[in-house]
Amino acid sequence: MIYLDNAATTPLDPEVLDTMIEFMKNEYGNPSSKYYPQAISAQNYLVNSRKQVAELINCEPEYILFTSGATESNNFVIKGVAEKHATKGKHIITSKIEHKSVLETCKHLERLGYNVTYLEVDQLGHINIKQLEESITNETILVSIMWGNNEIGTLNDIKGIGEICIKKDVLFHTDATQVMGKIHVDMKNIHVDFLSMSAHKIYGPKGIGAIYVGPDMLGLRRKIPSLLDGGSQEYKLRAGTHAMHNIVGFGKACEVARLTLDEYIPKLIANEQLLKDSLLKIRPDITFNGDQKNKIPGLLSINIPGINNELLCKEYANEFAISTGSACSVSEKSYVIDALLPNSSINYSSVIRICLSKFNIDLESQINKFIKLVK
Ligand code: PMP
Repeated sequence: MIYLDNAATTPLDPEVLDTMIEFMKNEYGNPSSKYYPQAISAQNYLVNSRKQVAELINCEPEYILFTSGATESNNFVIKGVAEKHATKGKHIITSKIEHKSVLETCKHLERLGYNVTYLEVDQLGHINIKQLEESITNETILVSIMWGNNEIGTLNDIKGIGEICIKKDVLFHTDATQVMGKIHVDMKNIHVDFLSMSAHKIYGPKGIGAIYVGPDMLGLRRKIPSLLDGGSQEYKLRAGTHAMHNIVGFGKACEVARLTLDEYIPKLIANEQLLKDSLLKIRPDITFNGDQKNKIPGLLSINIPGINNELLCKEYANEFAISTGSACSVSEKSYVIDALLPNSSINYSSVIRICLSKFNIDLESQINKFIKLVK
């Protein structure tokens, strides 16, 4: 069985699993309790995990808040900013190809009277920065643009978007779920107020993620409300007892990602090229969706004329884990491909998504098996 759906989720890294098992065997304290050793130990684990996450994106640990995943992080930011800044304005800008957790949150706010601009993207999946700038009004309170797209892998110019948001004094959120551990993310080099992350895309456990909340946001001036009302965990920005086993696993996954990034990225790029070349050799009519230069390494949206993607994925499900697109939008036709190619003749049913991982070790033999499917 060859697993090629790592954009949907990744397997746990054995090092992460060992760390989690060891933790769960020995630790059960609540880090919000006081004085006794179990509580102090849990606090130490919490501090260390926060540091490990922060180090992966080069920021101060106090800017990291743990959440249940990127869906919650996206909801927290968009709904929180909307509530906090409603007196300034009710306008939010996002793009048409964001993850559902952004788009559906925006739709929720539209039902509450907010006004959302969904920016178009070009054929490669990029927003037009000039159009973004022109869309910002005095009423705009948030720009939410993803760093890397989960279906086609296109990367946005986050530095450029951040500069516009500074110039226009608008808060900027980016969903970095798919780029973590695959490109260098350096918060000291870009301007972003909020950044969403998820552990299960970087060989960590499911049900845990984080949101980077930039320096100014921790100050009282712009502090946004917690999504969940309750206790005072996470600087009073995210109530609920910490899921410590998951937090420890996430921290470890970030540490492994940081330490192996420089070795991992070139390997992913080389493997992706190998897969592309092999496919094109047997089917020169194959095309790839999204920006093929500025992209998430290892993630490919492949157009294979003549195939039926659902049938292909189903028929070979016991041999290959591949997908027709996002796991969060199953049974719908892809709104991402639709936005890229509104007038194109490309058929949705000929698109499959493949995402490689560090566990596709014997890739050449895996590719040889895979290309037989599309011959
Ligand atoms: N954003 C993007 C770009 C994603 O790919 C995903 C996961 N499919 C999410 C958000 C949601 O992440 P989570 O599963 O942690 O809620």
